[in-house]
Amino acid sequence: MSKSLNFQENINLADYTTFRIGGTARYFVAVKNKEELMEALRFAKNNSLPFFILGGGSNLLVSDSGFNGLAIKMQNESIKMQDDGKKCKIICDAGVLLGKIIIETSRLGYSGAEWGFGIPGTIGGAICGNAGRLGQDISQVVESVTVLDEGLNIKTLSKEECGFGYRSSRFKESKEIILSASLLFIKKEPAEIEAVLNEAKAAVKQALPFPSAGCVFKNYKVKGESDELLKNHPELIERIRGGKIGVGYLIDQCGLKGKQVGGAKIWENHANYIINLGGAKAQDVMALIKMAKEAIKNKYGIEMEEEIRYI
Ligand SMILES: Cc1cc2nc3c(=O)[nH]c(=O)nc-3n(C[C@H](O)[C@H](O)[C@H](O)COP(=O)(O)OP(=O)(O)OC[C@H]3O[C@@H](n4cnc5c(N)ncnc54)[C@H](O)[C@@H]3O)c2cc1C
Repeated sequence: MSKSLNFQENINLADYTTFRIGGTARYFVAVKNKEELMEALRFAKNNSLPFFILGGGSNLLVSDSGFNGLAIKMQNESIKMQDDGKKCKIICDAGVLLGKIIIETSRLGYSGAEWGFGIPGTIGGAICGNAGRLGQDISQVVESVTVLDEGLNIKTLSKEECGFGYRSSRFKESKEIILSASLLFIKKEPAEIEAVLNEAKAAVKQALPFPSAGCVFKNYKVKGESDELLKNHPELIERIRGGKIGVGYLIDQCGLKGKQVGGAKIWENHANYIINLGGAKAQDVMALIKMAKEAIKNKYGIEMEEEIRYI
């Protein structure tokens, strides 16, 4: 076992997720830089342990039986700024909180991520899932992303190489670990920045009073005029916003708002959220997810895709 890194055993992962759900990790380690990350990966390899990367834990559902491997919490938090008065380049580690970048850039009059005010989590997590809100997403400010690949090679990928899509990127599949990112922000009038911040703050104000992992499902992306869902359900045309139909509405139409299993409930105020009323198990959440997927499939004939990730 390493002398420099603190590999802890049987750590409760519920304490590291916003859902406050999940069993223990056999090993847990927090890493502050790439050397520590590599040491953690060598530990996993030498002990034949699977590993997973934990950012802010705000988009995760951890199994009740926990994780029989090594959880690696990204705590690399360096930020460098290059500001030329018109644009501001931020080179930040993956473990930096998205909120910190938003506050800092907005304060200096730079725009690019203020829509994300209130989204919990790290830059690494935001890039992995291409976090977004108000029709915008993090890919818009990404210039490049530096990763550690499976062979422990460090490489820098251009924005195009990141394969960003709606709540997706290559990192969801690639097993590459995001080390840092270069983000580009543009100078704007303070009033313009303030207006978007206020919109985001309004969304935060309606924030739920219970633990959750944000939206459970991706919204439904309309597939143009030939879309089968709209052919069969023309009443949904008026629900299209930015090319998508909110699945919260669809879940609501299936009569599932407020549906409860154990300590988990489909939130009455927004049916795309599942909340932990206290003591919820991952299996309670899974039961609600299955119920919602089946109901939507039966009523609308579409498959819903999860936005949250399972551990
Ligand atoms: C109240 C609330 C509101 C939310 N609102 C929004 C919203 O408006 N829009 C939105 O998009 N999301 C929202 N979310 C979901 C969540 O906050 C975001 O998806 C966030 O970007 C996840 O970041 P994280 O650091 O917490 O990632 P985690 O949950 O820790 O991880 C998510 C995934 O990213 C991977 N990952 C994390 N860091 C790295 C890394 N360095 N390298 C490689 N992979 C990595 C993890 O392995 C995991 O697969 C909300 C969540 C909550 C609880």
